[in-house]
Amino acid sequence: MGNPKAFLTINRKEAGYRPVLERIEDFGEVEQTLNTEDRMLQASRCMDCGVPFCHWACPLANTMPEWQDALYKGKWQDANELLAKTNNFPEFTGRVCPALCEKSCVLNLHGIPVTIRENEVAIVEHAFQEGYIKPHSPQKRTSKNIAVVGSGPAGLAVADMLNRKGHQVTVFEKDELPGGLLRLGIPDFKLNKKIIDRRVCLLEAEGIVFKNNIDVGKDLTCGDLLKSFDAVCLCIGAGQPRDLSVEGCNLNGVYFALDLLKQQNRLVRGMKIPREKRISAEGKNVVIIGGGDTGSDCVGTSIRQKAASVTQIEILPMPPKDMNPDTPWPLYPHILKTSSSHKEGCTRRWSLATKRFTGKNGKLTSVEVIDTQTGAIEYLPADLVFLSMGFIHPVHEGLLDDLGLTYDVRGNVAVVTPSKTSVDKVFVAGDALSGTSLVVRSIDSGRQAAQAIHTYLT
Ligand SMILES: Cc1cc2nc3c(=O)[nH]c(=O)nc-3n(C[C@H](O)[C@H](O)[C@H](O)COP(=O)(O)OP(=O)(O)OC[C@H]3O[C@@H](n4cnc5c(N)ncnc54)[C@H](O)[C@@H]3O)c2cc1C
Repeated sequence: MGNPKAFLTINRKEAGYRPVLERIEDFGEVEQTLNTEDRMLQASRCMDCGVPFCHWACPLANTMPEWQDALYKGKWQDANELLAKTNNFPEFTGRVCPALCEKSCVLNLHGIPVTIRENEVAIVEHAFQEGYIKPHSPQKRTSKNIAVVGSGPAGLAVADMLNRKGHQVTVFEKDELPGGLLRLGIPDFKLNKKIIDRRVCLLEAEGIVFKNNIDVGKDLTCGDLLKSFDAVCLCIGAGQPRDLSVEGCNLNGVYFALDLLKQQNRLVRGMKIPREKRISAEGKNVVIIGGGDTGSDCVGTSIRQKAASVTQIEILPMPPKDMNPDTPWPLYPHILKTSSSHKEGCTRRWSLATKRFTGKNGKLTSVEVIDTQTGAIEYLPADLVFLSMGFIHPVHEGLLDDLGLTYDVRGNVAVVTPSKTSVDKVFVAGDALSGTSLVVRSIDSGRQAAQAIHTYLT
């Protein structure tokens, strides 16, 4: 620790966001960056605590105190090497992670944690800029072929780790480009897709083969998959959305959140979507059902599409604003989360359950809701509704059922030993194993599955 008193003399300084009126005009990343000097000063605030709770809270067990110290001393390359030891893709987590580490930082006892997430992304971006990150192909190849099904953060992490061990890895993806929810779920204003392209190019240069537009189970049968590869890792995510089967759910104007988010991500990439298939919030009253992160991404997207009004409703009561005695430090606090999208102009409502959708001539006109505290009924004007109540488990039909896999009580793929399913050669990682989670947890799950596969093969 270079400066033991910095936490007393240097204030926490966040890079902040682009001004609202500017950022809602485009889909560019909303978060800004600090200058180099300020960034290094922010790293100096790390106290190198005896028990680094940040490290404990991070699913990847990132060694924060070590790389904060290197960053403070201007040893950017060392900082990057320390970071890369535990995190395959800091450029993703540094942008979208809810930073469990910062919530557990000892300085968060005073609400002023080290800016760990921002420091992380600064280190990795600096490393790319300076050319520290180069393709490193394994020196020796084994004769083992591994198929990774799904190219989200879990699939990319499995592929990266197994390729480093010298195995030949092929990643199959049913969409047109790799990335999973990083590519088609999370909006560009949180994660610019060039960041994914840059990493995929690197992985390709290191020898990983990507095969897109292949729906495994359909375009490649399970029999052929098992015959052609020595091991298979399923990283297909938790794609089954939670539905709301109330009266009127078939009205024109009711969509799942991902219908909107996928389409908008494709439009930003320049893909042409026929007019009749376009979901556009322009000039419309939008109601988003579900108070979580996916809902918040729909808020930001609807605002950029120039919706007339955006309302996000949640069935649970509003969580406490600052402190929640149920989740004291160093736990991740269950408190009100206000995203950059929320600050762009939406109404947030709590304790509202959806009773039915009403419409005229087959088109949605309002959402009937009931206040779960008072029993009061209300009609929210709505031309568009996005169902954002989360995902229940991976899609069973097709690949998983055809492989004859077993499921746990929540419908996720069951394992017999860590990462290993009930079917020989077949492993699982990410949301398909844990249920819907976080990018950082998916990377960790991918790293664990890679270790299990390597042990199995050798
Ligand atoms: C809208 C949204 C926003 C989110 N925002 C955040 C955030 O800000 N921060 C955060 O930490 N987490 C966020 N999450 C959660 C995070 O994105 C997921 O936890 C993570 O992406 C899961 O990774 P995964 O690799 O397990 O699966 P996914 O990312 O879901 O990838 C699975 C991939 O498998 C492919 N696939 C499925 N079936 C097949 C098949 N049969 N053949 C070939 N390919 C197949 C899919 O097309 C997909 O590309 C968000 C989730 C959503 C939905």
